[in-house]
Amino acid sequence: MKTNFKKITAVLAAAVLSTAVLASCGGSDAPATDSNASDTAASTNGGELVMGTNAAFQPFEYVTENGLVDIYDGIDVAIAKKIADENGMTLKIEDMEFDGLIAAVSTGKIDMAVAGMTVTEERQQNVDFSDTYFTASQVMVVQADNEDIKTAEDLKNNKLVGVVLGYTGDNIVTDTIGVDEANITRANRGIDIVQDVKNGKLDAVVIDSATGKALAEANGLKVVEDPEAFDSEEYAIAVQKGNTELLDKINKVLAEMKASGEIEELAVKYNSEVGIEE
Ligand code: GLN
Repeated sequence: MKTNFKKITAVLAAAVLSTAVLASCGGSDAPATDSNASDTAASTNGGELVMGTNAAFQPFEYVTENGLVDIYDGIDVAIAKKIADENGMTLKIEDMEFDGLIAAVSTGKIDMAVAGMTVTEERQQNVDFSDTYFTASQVMVVQADNEDIKTAEDLKNNKLVGVVLGYTGDNIVTDTIGVDEANITRANRGIDIVQDVKNGKLDAVVIDSATGKALAEANGLKVVEDPEAFDSEEYAIAVQKGNTELLDKINKVLAEMKASGEIEELAVKYNSEVGIEE
C-alpha cells in the first residue's frame, strides 16, 4: 500500500485526469537545431525548449529505460514537458551537474533549470524564479538500526555527514547546523553518497525529503526528520534574469497544474514509481 504524502493522496482521490493528459502529449524530441540553445530558444513560439537538470534526483528527475522524454522521467520532467507542449515547443533535456545549473541558465546555455531547485536569495541574484510548485525540507538518511541520530544537533556529535555539492543541504549542514568541516563529505550525486551510509563510511546524508525517502527505500536505510531544525523549502523553475516571456509561460502552466491538482497527482505517481512508501 503506497500512500506517500498523506495530504496529497487525499486531495487526489478523485483526480485522475492528468495521467491521460500527459500520456496524450505525444511530442517528439526532434533534434531541431543542435547548435545549442544560445540566447533564448524559448523567446520564439515553437522551436526547442531546453531544460537543464541533474537527473539523479528521484522522484523529480531520473534516468530510466522508457522515460517520458528520452531516457528522462520524473515530476519535473512531466511539468517541463507540459510547459513545452502547451507552447508548441519541443522539450530537450540537458543532464548536468547540479552545481552548474545556475551558470547555465544565466549564460543562456539552457532556457530553464527544472531540478527540484529551492528558491534561495543567493540564487536569486543570478536567475529569476517562477512561482513555486513544491514544498520540501531536508531529512537525514541513516542506517536502519541507527539509534544515535535523532535530531540535526546529533550530527555535531562527531558524526560523519554526507551532502551533495551545491545543494541547500550542504549550506544547512555547513552553516546552519555547523557540522565540523572535517566531518563533511561532499559528492556530486545523492545516489552515490547514500551508498556510503549503507557501507558504514558515513553516519548520515542530509538531502531533500522526497529524494531521501526514495534513496532510503531503495537501499534499506531509514529517514530521520527534524522539522525544527530543517525549514521548509520551495522548489521553483529558474530562468535567465529578465526573461519574462518564458517566465509567464511557465507560471501559466504551473498555475493550471496547481489548480487542477495535477502536480500533487504527479507527486503521488512518481513517489510510487520510485518506491516511496509512507
Ligand atoms: N532542493 C535542493 C537544492 O535546491 C536540491 C536540488 C537537487 O538536487 N536537484 O539545492
